[in-house]
Amino acid sequence: MSEAGAGRYAPSPSGDLHLGNLRTALLAWAFARSTGRRFVLRIEDLDRARPGVEQRQLDDLAAIGVDWDGPVVRQSERLPRYEAAIDQLTAAGLTYECYCTRREIQQAATAPHGPMGAYPGTCRTLTASARERLRAQGRPAALRLRATVTELDVVDELRGPYRGRVDDLVLRRGDGIPAYNLAVVVDDAAQGVDQVVRGDDLLPSTPRQAYLAMLLDLPVPRYAHVPLVLNTAGQRLAKRDGAVTLADRRALGNTPGQIVATLAASLDCTATSASELLAHFNAGKLPREPWILDVNGLLQCSRCP
Ligand code: GLU
Repeated sequence: MSEAGAGRYAPSPSGDLHLGNLRTALLAWAFARSTGRRFVLRIEDLDRARPGVEQRQLDDLAAIGVDWDGPVVRQSERLPRYEAAIDQLTAAGLTYECYCTRREIQQAATAPHGPMGAYPGTCRTLTASARERLRAQGRPAALRLRATVTELDVVDELRGPYRGRVDDLVLRRGDGIPAYNLAVVVDDAAQGVDQVVRGDDLLPSTPRQAYLAMLLDLPVPRYAHVPLVLNTAGQRLAKRDGAVTLADRRALGNTPGQIVATLAASLDCTATSASELLAHFNAGKLPREPWILDVNGLLQCSRCP
């Protein structure tokens, strides 16, 4: 592991990065580089991987001047690490099988990026015979954490103290795939990540992740959740909002430098390259409000240099 810690960007290869994703990546990079730390990239491809997307994401990051240290890590290549962590928790008596239907599991556990209802603990106290009966029905079992707290306080470097729910979260899904919350904790520690900078849609998942890190005897990283980019209707920026990817913007004649300038302007900074942004970067002065992006306004390039 490293002497100096690292920052990271961890995209899911489910679609091309849009301006909001690129802005978060640029910020995560600037947080790390401005403090002389490493910056690592991790592709979170345990599900939702679409062919060709990973390479385009890497190309787009490079095009806006985000560089990274060491090889790109892919979660799909690290399954034994997640299983080892699950074994560690199981050996400590901190897991149980859950036979709830896929629908119930999905409702409770597949929305790591948003507020989610706590799992009510239906399978926590199953008797051995009840478990056998469910197993005999051929129901796939997920593995859940036997949490001993219901809430945890974390401190976010931008948002301040945050108290959030910790429930019996899924560690391994019914289809055998390790859950996001587990994988992210194992990987951040293994990659020496000591500061997690990401979109604030993930703030609600943070207490769960910090709790898991503690149970696994891993260092809890510092957290800085940055405001998301919203469209003019106040919704999270998405592909349907128009020309929002680097490829879209290039097709309209924007250069990567102009895109960086636009992203920098949204951070109250004047810069046409990542290195220029870095020279002016001041984490304490970042806007705390979401950036409202008028994609059609961008088309006229009114904010481009
Ligand atoms: N892979 C997640 C995403 O693309 C990010 C996870 C994280 O930063 O912890 O939304």
